[in-house]
Amino acid sequence: MKVVVVGAGLAGLATTCHLLGDGHEVVVVERGFKAGGRTSYVKDGGFVMDNGPTVFTMISMVDAALRAVGSSLYERLDLIELVPAYRVFYSDGQSFDGEGSIDVHASKDAMYEEVKRKCSSKDAESYVKFSSYLRKLYEAEFPNFIDKNIDGVLSLMSSPKAAVSLVKLKAFSSLDSVVRGYFDDERLVKLFSFQALYAGLSPLEARAIYAVITYMDSIEGVYYPRGGMHQIPRALKDAASDAGATFEFEFVVEGLEFRDGRTKDRRVAAVLGDGGERIEADAVVVTTELAQAYDTFLADLRVPNVVTQGEYSPSAYLHLLGVRGTPHGFAHHNIFLGTAWKEGFQSVLHNGRRMRDPSLLVSLPTVSDGSIAPDGHSVLYALEPVPNLDASIDWTFERDQARSQMVQRLTEYGFISDETDIVVESIYDPKDWLSMGMSKGTPFALSHRFFQSGPFRPANFSKEVENLFFAGSTTTPGVGVPMVLTSGKLAAQRISNLV
Ligand SMILES: Cc1cc2nc3c(=O)[nH]c(=O)nc-3n(C[C@H](O)[C@H](O)[C@H](O)COP(=O)(O)OP(=O)(O)OC[C@H]3O[C@@H](n4cnc5c(N)ncnc54)[C@H](O)[C@@H]3O)c2cc1C
Repeated sequence: MKVVVVGAGLAGLATTCHLLGDGHEVVVVERGFKAGGRTSYVKDGGFVMDNGPTVFTMISMVDAALRAVGSSLYERLDLIELVPAYRVFYSDGQSFDGEGSIDVHASKDAMYEEVKRKCSSKDAESYVKFSSYLRKLYEAEFPNFIDKNIDGVLSLMSSPKAAVSLVKLKAFSSLDSVVRGYFDDERLVKLFSFQALYAGLSPLEARAIYAVITYMDSIEGVYYPRGGMHQIPRALKDAASDAGATFEFEFVVEGLEFRDGRTKDRRVAAVLGDGGERIEADAVVVTTELAQAYDTFLADLRVPNVVTQGEYSPSAYLHLLGVRGTPHGFAHHNIFLGTAWKEGFQSVLHNGRRMRDPSLLVSLPTVSDGSIAPDGHSVLYALEPVPNLDASIDWTFERDQARSQMVQRLTEYGFISDETDIVVESIYDPKDWLSMGMSKGTPFALSHRFFQSGPFRPANFSKEVENLFFAGSTTTPGVGVPMVLTSGKLAAQRISNLV
């Protein structure tokens, strides 16, 4: 079959590799001039700064896509396992016997020792039990409900044993209460539940099924491809090209041509570009943000309600800096958990306000990779979760506020001595994400609240057009690098099942 994939982000690239592996002919059309989508970077003044994802977990999914085209992760990427996976600081003075941070290690033994040293032997024993809980949760949830095509609510019944296991594992109880069942120490409760925010949820409101995200980074580990995260799409694109895929860059999809005009039994016959290009297709996979797709080239089709009326995840204020000096005492990824835990999530998720004392991710990739900055310099990637554009924040004003607060925090934490250390910087606020086509100005798409997950998320197949499929963060299974790579595999499976 000849398949046209719209979009060369990670979802489109994974779809392409899996389709090629199944013997299909693939043409990828991408409006940009390179592959990667939001897994991108800026180059400025000798600094190479990723401006998309930074926390890379579940590397086996990139490997699976590469293996589909006869290559492998270690052949295409120079991967570094980050030890520690990240370092967590508590800004409310909850220090660990003089040390203000705790390291998260994927190695069970190393993490046992860290928890024993920084907290107590009892907590270390609890960590061992918790990590085995996470593994069981992942084993019941991932293959049966995430890495599997879902046709509707009833498909949830197709794995009754796994569903029973999830109930037994209290996966539908509150995440906070399940984590508290293991740890008395408030710091550890925060450490093992904050990851719900990656799914656009407050750790205090999420169900325990979302602890699967904690499993992904705390147990499977965090990696970094030398050169930067954008090496991942580069590797996938190269492997797909070597296996015969055709890439058409600067091709903006403007419409689809249908084989007949009727709504029923409709089939896509070709993909149309805004420069008059026309590429015939036996099947099409759309991997772009769905709200934008339905506003433009899918305008003839019915928009799933959740796309227009659903709840979108919080957004991010992202501040990239190329700075003088090499800060000490930090890991590659550093997480600063703010005070007023409950109030902070309430502000961003429900009250449309920035956190008073925000939880921040500050990555310092130059700890692992000196090639991305001039000698004696460092790259900083500082991200603050902020409300999306549903909130009434005026970012033309707020942007300067957020910038000066971030510079002040980076100075207080010791990443820079003062503003004069900054050599280059780039800032992205929700309006920037919107201008790149991201609905509600968030890079994290529809949130993963229960009724926007699994069978309740927009399906990865069209209910109106027989040979039209979807991948990417607005469809199933969802947002984030591991999920969109999985979405590509699932879309490819649907097409291969057509034959
Ligand atoms: C700042 C930031 C931090 C993040 N942090 C993490 C993290 O640490 N860990 C993690 O796992 N995830 C993270 N994410 C989320 C993750 O990056 C995304 O979920 C994932 O990359 C989305 O990939 P995608 O292929 O679905 O979409 P995209 O990368 O957006 O790809 C869609 C592609 O479609 C193209 N396109 C759009 N419209 C058209 C058209 N009309 N014609 C042709 N082409 C079109 C676009 O140009 C784009 O290349 C982060 C994202 C951002 C931005």
